[in-house]
Amino acid sequence: MSGPTGIALLGATGSIGETAQRVVSRHPDRFRFAAMTAHGNRPALEIAAARWKPSLVGLVNGGGAPLPAGWCHGRECLVQAATHPDAAIVLNAVVGAAGLEATLAAVSAGKRVALANKESLVVGGALMERAARASGGGQVVPVDSEHSALLQCLAGRVGGDGPGLLPVAGVRRFIITASGGPFRAWESERIRGARLEDALNHPTWSMGRKITVDSASLANKALEVIEAHVLFGVPYDRIEVVVHPQSIVHSMVEFEDGSVIAQLGVPSMELPVLYALGYPDRLEDHGVPRFDPVASSPLTFEPVRHDAFPTLGLGVAAGRRGGAAPAVFNAANEAAVSRFLDGSLSFGGIPGAIESALTRLGDRSGDDLPALLAADAAARILVQEFR
Ligand code: NDP
Ligand code: MG
Repeated sequence: MSGPTGIALLGATGSIGETAQRVVSRHPDRFRFAAMTAHGNRPALEIAAARWKPSLVGLVNGGGAPLPAGWCHGRECLVQAATHPDAAIVLNAVVGAAGLEATLAAVSAGKRVALANKESLVVGGALMERAARASGGGQVVPVDSEHSALLQCLAGRVGGDGPGLLPVAGVRRFIITASGGPFRAWESERIRGARLEDALNHPTWSMGRKITVDSASLANKALEVIEAHVLFGVPYDRIEVVVHPQSIVHSMVEFEDGSVIAQLGVPSMELPVLYALGYPDRLEDHGVPRFDPVASSPLTFEPVRHDAFPTLGLGVAAGRRGGAAPAVFNAANEAAVSRFLDGSLSFGGIPGAIESALTRLGDRSGDDLPALLAADAAARILVQEFR
C-alpha cells in the first residue's frame, strides 16, 4: 500500500468535521487530511491544522485579518480544497447550499465525495449525475446515516446504467426512519409556537444548529427523501418515511420478493463517516459503543403526523416537481431557519415562508448551475421579506 489516502475535509470545525477527525485519528495508516476548511471559526481551524498539518488550509471568511502563510481565504478555497491533487476523498461537511460548487467540482475532478452536505444533492441532483457520468470516476458516497443504512442494505446491488448516482435494481421500497425530533408528541398549536431552546433540544442526535432545527420541523426528512431519490434513482412513490423514536434502525430496504433488510446501530455519526471513507470495504474499528439489543428495547415505529409537520410534504412535493423546485425549497428553508435562529420568525412561520417561496418560484424549470443559483438567491430574498 502506498501510504494513507488523502482526505479534503470541508467544514472541519463543525459537528461532522469533528466526528471525522475522531474517526481518522483511529486509522492513521489508512487516512490523513490533505486539506481542511472552515467558515469563520479560525481558532478551531488553527488547532486542527496544527494537529493534522494538511497541505492546504482554507478559511472562507477570515474577517480581513492577516492569515498564516499558506492559508487561502474566500469561497474559492472550498473548490481549491475539493480538487486538491493530494486528496482522493473529499468529505463535504459544510452546511447548506454553500457546499454545492465544491461537491460538483470534486465529482467533476473524479474524486470520491463522502457527502454529509445533503443540500448539494437536493439543489443540484441532476447536475451532479451529469458531472459524475462525464468525469469517468467521480462518485458520491453518502454520510447521512439513513442513506449509509440504505447503501449497506443494498450491498452488492449498486451499479449498472439506471438513474441515480448509485443506481440500484430490485428495490420495491425504501423505508427511511425519522426520530420525530423534540416535537414528535406535541400538539400542532404548541409546535407552531415552539421556542428556539425547545427546537435545539434533539432527543437522540447531537448536531449543528441548522440540521437540529430541520430535524424538529422534519425539513431534514424532506431533504433526505430527495437525497435518496437522487442517490439511488428510486421513484418518489417508492420512498416512505416512518417515525422511529429510538434512532436505532437507520433505514430499511424492501426487495422485489417482499423481504426487508434493515441496518441498526447506536446513534453515532462515526459509523457512517467510517463506512463512507472505506466503502466498499468495512474497516475494523472499536470507537463506537457496541449495540445491545436488550438495552435498546423496545424499538417502536409510528406514522408521520403530516398535519403537525407540513414541511415534510412541501419538500417532497418540490422534489417530485423537479427543475429548480428542490433548490427553492432548500434555500427557502435555509433562510427561514436562519430567521428562526435570529428570532425574527416563529417556528410555525417556517413552513409558511417555504410555501410562499414555492408558490412564487417553484415552477422554474432550468437545472443548470446559473439557473439553480438564481432560484436559490430569489427564494432567500422572498423569505427575508416574508411576514
Ligand atoms: P455544523 O454547523 O456543525 O458545521 C458546519 C461546518 O461548515 C463548519 O465547519 C462551518 O465552519 C462550515 N461552514 C458553515 N457555513 C459555511 C459556508 N457558508 N461556507 C463554508 N463553510 C461553511 O454542521 P453539521 O456538522 O451538523 O452539518 C454539516 C452537514 O452535514 C450538513 O449538511 C448536515 O445536514 C449534514 N449532516 C449532519 C449530521 C450531524 O450529525 N451533524 C448528520 C447527517 C448529516 P465554522 O465552524 O467556521 O462556522
Ligand atoms: Mg440523516
